[in-house]
Amino acid sequence: MEYTEEDERLIAERFAELVAVCESKAICHSDDDRAIIVRAFNVAKEAHKGVRRRSGEPYITHPIAVARICVEEIGLGVKSVVASLLHDVVEDTDLTVEDISQMFTPKIASMVDGLTKISGVFNAETSEQAESFRKMLLTLLDDVRVILIKIADRLHNMRTLGAMPREKQVKITSETIYLFAPLAYRLGLYAIKSELEDLSLKYRFPEQYNEIEAKLEATKRRRAELIDKFDEPIIARLRENGVDFEISGRVKSVYSVWRKMQSKQVPFEEIYDLFAVRIIFRPSPVISEKTQCWYIYELVTDIYPSRPDRLRDWITYPKANGYEALHTTVMSPDGLWVEVQIRSERMNQVAEQGVAAHWKHNYLTEDEELLPDEKFDNWLGRIRDALSSPTENAVDFLDNFQRSLYTGEIVVFTPKGESRQLLKGATVLDFAFEIHSKLGVTAIGAKINHKIESIYTELKSGDQIEVLTSKSAAPVVEWLDHVVTTKAKQHIKNYLRRNRQQSTERGKELFEARMAELGIVPGARVFRKLLPAYHSSTKDEFYGKVGAGTVLLDGLQDVLRQNSASKYLKFWTLFQGNRSDRDDGMVVGGREWNEEEGRRFEIAECCIPIPGDDVTGYREPASGKIVVHKTSCSELTRLASQHGENIETGIRWSSHKAMSYLSIISLQGIDRVGILLDLVGVITGELNINIRELRIQSHDGIFEGEVSLYVTSTDDLNAVIGKIKKIKGVDKAQRINS
Ligand code: MN
Repeated sequence: MEYTEEDERLIAERFAELVAVCESKAICHSDDDRAIIVRAFNVAKEAHKGVRRRSGEPYITHPIAVARICVEEIGLGVKSVVASLLHDVVEDTDLTVEDISQMFTPKIASMVDGLTKISGVFNAETSEQAESFRKMLLTLLDDVRVILIKIADRLHNMRTLGAMPREKQVKITSETIYLFAPLAYRLGLYAIKSELEDLSLKYRFPEQYNEIEAKLEATKRRRAELIDKFDEPIIARLRENGVDFEISGRVKSVYSVWRKMQSKQVPFEEIYDLFAVRIIFRPSPVISEKTQCWYIYELVTDIYPSRPDRLRDWITYPKANGYEALHTTVMSPDGLWVEVQIRSERMNQVAEQGVAAHWKHNYLTEDEELLPDEKFDNWLGRIRDALSSPTENAVDFLDNFQRSLYTGEIVVFTPKGESRQLLKGATVLDFAFEIHSKLGVTAIGAKINHKIESIYTELKSGDQIEVLTSKSAAPVVEWLDHVVTTKAKQHIKNYLRRNRQQSTERGKELFEARMAELGIVPGARVFRKLLPAYHSSTKDEFYGKVGAGTVLLDGLQDVLRQNSASKYLKFWTLFQGNRSDRDDGMVVGGREWNEEEGRRFEIAECCIPIPGDDVTGYREPASGKIVVHKTSCSELTRLASQHGENIETGIRWSSHKAMSYLSIISLQGIDRVGILLDLVGVITGELNINIRELRIQSHDGIFEGEVSLYVTSTDDLNAVIGKIKKIKGVDKAQRINS
């Protein structure tokens, strides 16, 4: 099918517009540049012949529009225009990448190839799509222009989404809001990001979109007045001081108003910070841009009081996407907080065109090759780290990556004073892994600004961090809840994966030993109780958790007791009277508690005696049972002084070595990461004693806690205490109420 006359006219007109834009942006440096654009246009026009978009327009209008966005809104050059014009050719027509390579250049062919590969990404199922997205990002590492063109492609498709059927709209807007808008943001394309968001909202929730848009329109005049009134004294003051500048009021986008209404659950009328003011200055040749920014800041905050906690200095530390500006929030005469953004013309261009402008100003080579700068390279490096780990499940990866696109950044320092950029919310662990994976896996704490802090401490911009390590430290699952960077997550997951098998085996051993001790055969019924109680869905998961130390077998009995009549106290073997010297548990001539008789003896909760302790009983008049206290117990002394007739003497322990008794040790020391694991390791590992409960609280670098454990005798208990005292960081370990 040939183009109609009408088509020809429309196509020629659109292409002429593109050429005009290229001229006005002066991207063509020679006649060759102009010729190659025309050639690409002709190839694409011929290739897409007979195909129409849903809107009815000839398909070629789409590549032309994408090329125009690349030049006009992103600031890309000739190669990108050519690649844009050809971006759907390989996928939709008979032309191959080799054909393109021969007709144009290998570089352009590889860009088109990248764009072709990407387009398969969004047609697949979720996990497959995530996997393809990972591949797509790999092409980003080769040439960021490929991604920029893809964003332009998406922007044009969003602008023309009205022609699509409803279910396609939902799918496309979802992808846009989930990936493309964040990606545009991360690449510094703020205007495009904002438009993508607005368009997504418009097609996803048309009524809400229209309502907000109408309200913004209705309040426009009032807002303009407010902005004028706000700007007036600033304009006067800046002029007085010889600043060459422009000032403009920027209204919040429909999408950001909507987001705020959603997150705060308030109506439109209660969104107050509807606008921000932007001051763009032409730099003076003699003073640095940075100095001028701060000078303007001073002039503005002389007029309006500022909120110190809202000052953002993106000049000293530009965002990873290259954004530079000084933001301050000041109180307007009407009592509203207004954000004022201060930028030079150059900074403004970076803010509007993102990485492309950044490179253009600083790093573009003659061949239009993009040389990444250090900060952006760091970001790419982080993505590369994430991508090069093939083990992570693609959907997880995508979520992590997606999250990392939107998060803000902080700047922190190594002990040597080198700055590092981290995602907002990053902890000591993130920092440690950022420096080196080895530092990460052995981290036990840190000196933040010379003060000792835990590895979970969230870092603030300006912190100086010295990571403290220990050879015995190792990542645990819990760490994953305390890191935000992809890099740290990856390393921890990899480590855990390697250790999982080991943990599962160890956990199984620990569990089985414990069950054997309790005389329970761990059958299906037992696991039905245990797995939900320990938030595990499989036996292996449960074993893994036990082995990794993230689940302690404390309370195991409580869990099992729910469907078992056996109670721990059954095993107490106290007796009263004389007995033989034999220690096989036989009792001669005394009273020993047994099940038939009911509970005769009960261990006093105030002092919790254990075998080996000298004990005295107190008979409760009502129940007749004998509560056994340590003879030295002050509570017993009190009781004896008032009800001496109820005191029972001659109570002794029988020596059942297999039985264990509950005892509590109080602990105190200097908090450090891993101390809990060390404690558990010493008690359960080296001494093979069961912990019933372990509680640790820490504050200001000090921890205090209690371990309730089962020991067989005072000798046993003293041995545990001795071991615990040797653990690094433990200051005090003593038996409670002894
Ligand atoms: Mn396209």
